[in-house]
Amino acid sequence: MELINGQYCVQNVPLLEMAEKYGSPLFIYDANKIESQYHKMVNAFDVPKLKINYACKALTNINILKIMKELGAGIDAVSIEEIKLSLHAGFDPNDIVFTPNSVGAAEIEDAIRLGVRINIDNIELLEYFGHHYPDLKICIRINPHVMAGGNSKISVGHIDSKFGISIHQMPLVVRIVENLKINVEGIHMHTGSDILDVDVFLYATDILFNQARLFNDLDYIDFGSGFKVKYKNEDIETDIEEFGRLMSIKFNKFCKEVGKDLTLAFEPGKYLVSESGYFLAKTNIIKQTTSTVFAGINSGFNHMIRPMFYGAHHEIINISNPEGVPKLYTVVGYICETDTFGYNRKINTITPNDILVFKNAGAYCFMMASNYNSRLLPAEVLIKDNKDYLIRQRQDFTSLLQDQIEVNLPVAVEADQAE
Ligand SMILES: *Cc1c(COP(=O)(O)O)cnc(C)c1O
Repeated sequence: MELINGQYCVQNVPLLEMAEKYGSPLFIYDANKIESQYHKMVNAFDVPKLKINYACKALTNINILKIMKELGAGIDAVSIEEIKLSLHAGFDPNDIVFTPNSVGAAEIEDAIRLGVRINIDNIELLEYFGHHYPDLKICIRINPHVMAGGNSKISVGHIDSKFGISIHQMPLVVRIVENLKINVEGIHMHTGSDILDVDVFLYATDILFNQARLFNDLDYIDFGSGFKVKYKNEDIETDIEEFGRLMSIKFNKFCKEVGKDLTLAFEPGKYLVSESGYFLAKTNIIKQTTSTVFAGINSGFNHMIRPMFYGAHHEIINISNPEGVPKLYTVVGYICETDTFGYNRKINTITPNDILVFKNAGAYCFMMASNYNSRLLPAEVLIKDNKDYLIRQRQDFTSLLQDQIEVNLPVAVEADQAE
């Protein structure tokens, strides 16, 4: 987003015009930013074979999935529904990796029938595969027990984590793999989201290489994700060029050492789509109390829960008053419990009806939206090459009723009438 002739624009498209055209609240995604993030990532690595699987739980609008496909990415899916959406968007089943956790056998069977790759997350499942699908190639998710990630909700590699097969259980894994003649084509780790530190990543890399030596049929090593993007101006993002350089050297050396032509795989979500997204909401009220000036908007944690759920910081800009004098505001939603988007934010003077923009609204924003307070879901717009496309219509009231079943309950009979 940048100021062009005094108007905040994504590419050449003024965001205020988008709010007028499509209403608010509204999610806007910059397709060109997604493409540039993808290319930046791919260009950072210098290995013969690289695969980027988009962790689509970040944002599954099928138009976004199609952009990923066009770019050459694969998909990392965590549910059968994500698999079906990806197939709908045109992905080959071979380009979809299913990484289930606490998912029942029936769903995994469905995924197998759809022909996608399976990433095994526990030993029971590994045995199940060995017995029922001896011919299927699989990937094993290893938990290296490296503590990483922006906060405890998104840190998944530590010792108490429910994710992956503990690295301490690898002797048992190897025994099962050898006895049941399971073809392990990949090993995988994902230690958390929002990892700042390249060194942590490289440390976990060495651990995974050691495990990679255990499997003769190996074709790829998937290092998961955790790439950090900027939420504030002063934030440090993962230095992808530096990471890519160091990682490529390590990976190429390892391939040479074991005499294998392995694929290096990653599965970023946030890195690819977070910064592409803008959330637009309209100011309903300005309310001054003894200590605080509140700006109340026509949205809440029903549309963007990250600030309340994760304590995530999203920059807030008043695009209706680009030249205005900055003042301190606490920006809140209309949900009937505390839903604060940001405390004491310096924002250009806000008056009712001003449109506020929340940055980094591409990943885990629309996807976590709900109908709480029986509010409707916002629309989504994609901007590509200076043109805007409506990619999801604003939800309408009928959808609140369409899955409900109105039943005729027996009417309570008055006691004296019953006699
Ligand atoms: C969520 C998830 C990712 C993506 O994490 P980001 O921080 O969004 O890049 C990757 N792999 C797995 C298995 C995940 O569950």
